[in-house]
Amino acid sequence: MPAAAPAPLPVDPASDVVLELGVPGWVYVAGAPYELRARRGERALARARGPFVEVSGPDRAERGKALARWYRRTARELLGSALAADAERLGLRPQRLAIRDQRTRWGSCSTRGTVSLNWRLVMVPPPVARYVIVHELCHLEHPNHSPAFWRALAAALPEWRDGHRWLRRHALALMSYRPAHSAL
Ligand SMILES: [Zn+2]
Repeated sequence: MPAAAPAPLPVDPASDVVLELGVPGWVYVAGAPYELRARRGERALARARGPFVEVSGPDRAERGKALARWYRRTARELLGSALAADAERLGLRPQRLAIRDQRTRWGSCSTRGTVSLNWRLVMVPPPVARYVIVHELCHLEHPNHSPAFWRALAAALPEWRDGHRWLRRHALALMSYRPAHSAL
């Protein structure tokens, strides 16, 4: 039996809750916990199935890798559609989305228009991930942190400070999250 369901991640940036992401048997998508069902199997594979995420593999290491790949696929899907929606709303055209495993940053934007996002953003409440997405989109026109950049961000997402604050508060818990060690 897995441990009791952990609470959803708080949305309120002022919440004092310390995120305990390393509850074995649970993964997080968009701030909500999903029960992880791990089993032995020849093929290393993870997929969402109803309210569960199933992961199989010949051993724990392979199941860990499958889970990490699943998180990245899910990040590409969900963060990708959030990026597309805000890009369209703001009339901006990112060239490419890269999902990355950065250890010290949430996102970046290259001069060629590639927006890179940390896959861990798929774990957090959508308004929090959205702050990073809109921040990077604003870099398409302002490749710096000039006053003009911050004005553009405030116009594009007036509540940007909430997401910024949330991520600062919980950065350590999220950045130290490793699927193989934290969930299996
Ligand atoms: Zn920036």
